[in-house]
Amino acid sequence: MSRFKTVRGMRDFLADEAQLLRYVEDRARKVATLYGYKEIITPIVESYELLSVKAGEEVRSRMFAFKDLGDRDVALRPEFTASVARLVAASFLDQPKPFRLFCVGSVYRYDEPQRGRYREFWQSNFELMGSNRPEADAEILLLTNSLMENAGLKDFTFKIGHVGVLRGIFNQERLDDRVQNQVMQLMDKKEYDDAFKVVQDTGAPENCLRVLRQLVELKGKADSNVVDLMRACVFDYENAIVATENLRQILELISKSGCKITLNVDAGFARGLEYYTGMIFEVYIPTLSIALGGGGRYDRLIELFGGESTPAVGVAHGIDRIMMAIQQQKIPLGTEDRKSGVVIPINEQSKAEALKIAEMLREAGLAVEIEIMGRKMAKALEDANRRKMNYAVIIGERELKEGTVAIRDLARREQKTVLIEKAVETINEMTAT
Ligand code: AMP
Repeated sequence: MSRFKTVRGMRDFLADEAQLLRYVEDRARKVATLYGYKEIITPIVESYELLSVKAGEEVRSRMFAFKDLGDRDVALRPEFTASVARLVAASFLDQPKPFRLFCVGSVYRYDEPQRGRYREFWQSNFELMGSNRPEADAEILLLTNSLMENAGLKDFTFKIGHVGVLRGIFNQERLDDRVQNQVMQLMDKKEYDDAFKVVQDTGAPENCLRVLRQLVELKGKADSNVVDLMRACVFDYENAIVATENLRQILELISKSGCKITLNVDAGFARGLEYYTGMIFEVYIPTLSIALGGGGRYDRLIELFGGESTPAVGVAHGIDRIMMAIQQQKIPLGTEDRKSGVVIPINEQSKAEALKIAEMLREAGLAVEIEIMGRKMAKALEDANRRKMNYAVIIGERELKEGTVAIRDLARREQKTVLIEKAVETINEMTAT
């Protein structure tokens, strides 16, 4: 038994899982290219202050935070947006907008480990900065739809809401920011009674509570009258009305674009991250109760970090959860099925030749391993068969003398001896079907 295990909440990825992770990452990168998002790479370790300032209590309290050897307060990134906003605030001054930025990598949260919830997980992250218009929100929704489609997923749906509706009400009722954030966190966890109790304790009027209670019940398909009902519900609250109109514009754009996205409006929807100011959304599939991704509009973060006023909208896709969804829906990855083989030196003298021939095959694009366990030919072939390899190249005494190799088609159990120069061609012919 090994003395060591992975740390709680951390996982190893074996070959199949690693391949799946890279597959999803590749899909995300493809979508980034198609939509014109440029990849940037930011550090995993950032200043604690940067990461905590607008992350929200939920994320803040779960950060892997520590002092580095230089006594700096730092943390492992729990998400990407703060890092991207820092970079843009510092380095993108006076550059023509918009900025379309993409990053992908691991993030860290001290969440309680359970299915689909890990302490190290992977996100692909898209940020669209510089536009406050609904077409920017629509783009982030469309590219998320595109990623889910590209990954091969079926039956996914979007839950969509607008933070501006709730913030509009809270601001007009003069709830301070700290209380607002607390209420939003509780609503995010669907702990509505506790959320309303906090509002009530601020002395907010009964009308406000009535509106909130109605809002959390209001749900419906984007093409239903749900936005009209939201608007009617918040008619006393000026900025909340503006927010519902903004949501309507985003939904209309998507609907008129002809794109088939299932959007479910949820008027009481809130998200844990505090920086959101506008439209927010999450993606789900029916068989998983946890979101595959989520995002929204955050118009003030870059300014808060000392940059120019830059409205922005973004999304983080949970790669681990997309992997789970792909496994559940049994989506074939369509990855390249490369033929593989092994070079077997039969004696001491042919070892160097084996290295040389293996290199030659690799240069021609063939995947090849070398027998390095000193096994006899029969054992080495048995192992290659067990591993479902396609061919073996055998170099014995006679071959060495004659400048030839024996090539064996492992599936058909056929063997040919050919000149070394003909090895690549012969392998390709033999394994062509
Ligand atoms: P957030 O940054 O909280 O908006 O999260 C974006 C996405 O990351 C979520 O929709 C999930 O798909 C994924 N995610 C969040 N927390 C975890 C976790 N602990 N383990 C795995 N995936 C997660």
